Amino acid sequence: TPLGKPKESQGHPGSVWPKELIALEPGESAWQVALKKIQELSDSDHRDPFMVADLGVLASRHRAFCQALPRVSPFYAVKCSSSVWVLRVLDTLGTGFDCASQVELDQVLGLGVAPSRIIYANPCKPVSHIQYAARHGVQLLTFDSEEELTKVAQHYPGARLVLRLLTEDSESIFPLSAKFGASLEACERLLKSARDLGLAVVGTSFHVGSNCRTPHSFRQAIADCRRVFEMGRAFGHDMSLLDIGGGFPGGEGCEPQFEEMARVINAALAQDFPEGSGVEIIAEPGRFYAASVCVAAVNIIAKKAVLESGGRRKLLYYLNDGHYGIFRLFLREPAPSTPIVVKELCSDPPLFPCTLYGPTCDAFDKLFREEVQLPELDVGDWLVFPSMGAYTSSMSSTFNGFPPASTYYAMEPKLRCLEGERRDSPLRGSPQGLSLVRGACG
Ligand code: PLP
Repeated sequence: TPLGKPKESQGHPGSVWPKELIALEPGESAWQVALKKIQELSDSDHRDPFMVADLGVLASRHRAFCQALPRVSPFYAVKCSSSVWVLRVLDTLGTGFDCASQVELDQVLGLGVAPSRIIYANPCKPVSHIQYAARHGVQLLTFDSEEELTKVAQHYPGARLVLRLLTEDSESIFPLSAKFGASLEACERLLKSARDLGLAVVGTSFHVGSNCRTPHSFRQAIADCRRVFEMGRAFGHDMSLLDIGGGFPGGEGCEPQFEEMARVINAALAQDFPEGSGVEIIAEPGRFYAASVCVAAVNIIAKKAVLESGGRRKLLYYLNDGHYGIFRLFLREPAPSTPIVVKELCSDPPLFPCTLYGPTCDAFDKLFREEVQLPELDVGDWLVFPSMGAYTSSMSSTFNGFPPASTYYAMEPKLRCLEGERRDSPLRGSPQGLSLVRGACG
């Protein structure tokens, strides 16, 4: 099927395949679709950057998450990738959602998700966004300060509050604790203030930092939460929700790291929140679900060769996407990810140290801090980057007038009637026609 052209109904008589979705052949991957698209574009001068998202990957990630952490209900972090297709598939699979703002709440509620399946997990919220949550019945709100309690008492006294704890996150690639989280000492004061204001604190949350490198951060944070549960109960709060946040690794090849993390988390939960304790456990994974959904294809738009002192030949490649587009977070990664070169080359081409620049006039606009080793390439050649689904399109800007890369969404037709795999969480709303294309599946 030529890209972008809708296929006819795929084995579901009477149903129409959504024209925005590419129908994957059995076994076909996003990478193969990207190659086809590159081939189509190779005769044209319009070689704009693009991504291909295989939505079926979300189903396998969801299965892996639920199998590894059977007591934990995932509330997907919308900030990671807020595409409507990603959200629709996750809704169909039955996840909850972690929203950070009014726009995200609006987006998720607009899909028909019950407010009980949403946590508004930004501890520092604008008043108007709190009022929006109140109007729409999104009750779970996180907080970590006295000032937030004052705002909630005034604008949403019926909220069910979740106290966000500080964590030790120095080993995460993207630490968060400098900005968010209350220390254990502060928790006691906050729990008392909440009681005095007549507010209900129903649980605790934490975030070990995104792309966490050590599962022991989870162990310590879960133990801290248990202490805060005891404090909260002593102040008369009905503590019944533990939110273990995000931080799980994503991308291809992260499975062993994730399995080890899950093992440590399960053991910590068994110790501090054993089964039968009546505590509902949720998490806010983002990267784990979204990273491996997308591959990105970018084109070389300019090139320079530099001879450094000592005779070292270095190449500067200028690509049509960069730091202000889908590579926003990569300057903060310790190691660059080496792209796949889409070009026929001799079997063992010489490699050169290369700096990859983005297309804007800002010299800071590099893809990675470090050089990558690549062969000699030309203007017009393509590079493909795997595992580009997390914090990419959701962070893109139009700086210097470069529009965000477009995304082609693809899926195997047999997956279109994905079924929610976990119907047992009391936090979930009643399933209402859980099909990817509502009402269209037999
Ligand atoms: N929850 C909150 C409150 C966050 O700030 C983030 C990311 O910054 C996430 C969840 C998702 O984290 P991750 O993508 O590491 O799973």
